[in-house]
Amino acid sequence: MIIVMSMGATEQEATNVRDQLRQYGLTPHDNYGTQRVVIAVLGDVAPVRDLLMSKLSVMPGVESVTPITRPYKLTSRESHPEDTVIEVLGTRVGNGNLTIMAGPCSIEGREMMIETARSVARAGATILRGGAFKPRTSPYAFQGLGVEGLTYLAEASKETGLPTITEVMEPGQVEVVARHSDILQVGTRNMQNYSLLTAVGKAGRPVMLKRGYGATIEEWLMAAEYIVSSGNPHVILCERGIRTFETYTRNTLDLTAVPLLHHLTHLPVVVDPSHATGKRWLVKPMALAAVAAGADGIMVEVHPNPDEAKSDGEQSLTFDQFADMAGALKQIHEVVRTLIKDPFPMTGQARVDGSSKH
Ligand code: PEP
Ligand code: MN
Repeated sequence: MIIVMSMGATEQEATNVRDQLRQYGLTPHDNYGTQRVVIAVLGDVAPVRDLLMSKLSVMPGVESVTPITRPYKLTSRESHPEDTVIEVLGTRVGNGNLTIMAGPCSIEGREMMIETARSVARAGATILRGGAFKPRTSPYAFQGLGVEGLTYLAEASKETGLPTITEVMEPGQVEVVARHSDILQVGTRNMQNYSLLTAVGKAGRPVMLKRGYGATIEEWLMAAEYIVSSGNPHVILCERGIRTFETYTRNTLDLTAVPLLHHLTHLPVVVDPSHATGKRWLVKPMALAAVAAGADGIMVEVHPNPDEAKSDGEQSLTFDQFADMAGALKQIHEVVRTLIKDPFPMTGQARVDGSSKH
């Protein structure tokens, strides 16, 4: 349920509404980004919905009371119709900007990180990536440089002016990662690690939440809801492929997620074609397709010498391949912008319902 206060409502009137909600054991949550006070209601509204709606709608200062039908409340477009735009070091993610996140899968050393950062910055990257704490399938594979890697990422950021993103794998790492990086990444394997989601929700940094490789869109949005309800409204969603029966690609890139998410949620959506495909030569076409589908940006892996990479070399682009792709992306983005003036209208036949038939 959301309560929209009228333009001239006083703070006392909003306080009365919040107090009324608390009397029913519910939690009021003020919404962001609007000119008027909008209060979302968190908790189990169902048993008292009708009673509450009739009480609230006649309270002074209340303009409207609307039930939210989605199980995810704060992340749903119903509660927050405007796009969320996330600003980091002067770079804006969402609302028509093209975000290009690029960098190595793993930070392997100082020189390679800085060399890669310079190259991707020159070619048009807007955010620098690099893994320091690596979630590896094998315990014998390179696990990342940890905090040492974070210092190289921070140095590369200073050198290029690019904001950074890196993965955090457990609640105990949040503080140190947040000290070194502008955006925290929660990886596919941790999408439903609820203690981690709550911890990054309190970290005071934007979070990019990758889709769990076996997660439905709704499970993914519920995971985002953990972060937002913990106090952090700055969440970016990243589609990175899901596991299907197909074996030619590492995962199956679900591009439908892009327009679907823009419909269901106000959060920005980016696509990672590197982990989705697992193959370097598939990265450019799928990155272009993602932007054509309306993605707010992409994340790709780039390495000075992919054949020698300590992780994910097969899917990493060379510097030249990245520069070529970035140029093409900008062209596609321009075209998409002019062709689709309002790509995500909330009216008309727009409403989507839960499941589909086979
Ligand atoms: C990554 O981006 O470094 C990564 C490990 O991705 P994912 O969690 O999508 O596998
Ligand atoms: Mn990787």
